[in-house]
Amino acid sequence: MTATEAPAAYQPFEAGARVAFTDGHRPASRSFRALSGNAVVVGFRPYVDGKPGGWYTLERKGETISVEARNVAAYEPKAKGAPGAKVAKPAPETLPKIVAMVGKSDSGEYGNATCPHCGADGRYVWTFRCDDGTTRGAMAGCIKLFPRSALVDEHQRLLDRLDERQAKGQTLASWDQAKLAAIEAVVAGRMTEAEALLVVKVENAKRTAWMDRRGRR
Ligand SMILES: [Zn+2]
Repeated sequence: MTATEAPAAYQPFEAGARVAFTDGHRPASRSFRALSGNAVVVGFRPYVDGKPGGWYTLERKGETISVEARNVAAYEPKAKGAPGAKVAKPAPETLPKIVAMVGKSDSGEYGNATCPHCGADGRYVWTFRCDDGTTRGAMAGCIKLFPRSALVDEHQRLLDRLDERQAKGQTLASWDQAKLAAIEAVVAGRMTEAEALLVVKVENAKRTAWMDRRGRR
């Protein structure tokens, strides 16, 4: 990378471009003010002290300020002419949709597995199939980052509960067995997602009814 080339994440706006920014800056006095709003690009320095990132020189209300490139975004005027501007958030990571949970590996109480998604250490790694045809792995926290259906969440809960029950030498309650069977039928292509969601609804109602009867005694 040459000295005039900015990292792709901080693609410079042209001089004269209107941008939005949020930043603190130091005016002539020694006080530190936090500022946000919109301004016009005057210049751009790709490197400061040899570090990538870059700084914009912006002009705002006749004042010239320096703002770190990561705090500068495309200007999007508010619909109702309100003052200021909203700073566009960076695009979220694009992940495929989870279509089915495959299973969960347990590296044991003192085992150290690594999350295939983020590299964090932990105990359980889930494996799942995605709508782009890939089979991937991630720990429970990272699964939440993926788009997924209600059925996938239910499947994950049921597999967790099955593990808990089996550890105690027990089996799943009848409604959980029915829900798990339905979801596994979807995974195997023998049932549609809508049909399985109906099973989940019916079995949840059975459980609620059973709890109600039990509560009345
Ligand atoms: Zn992770």
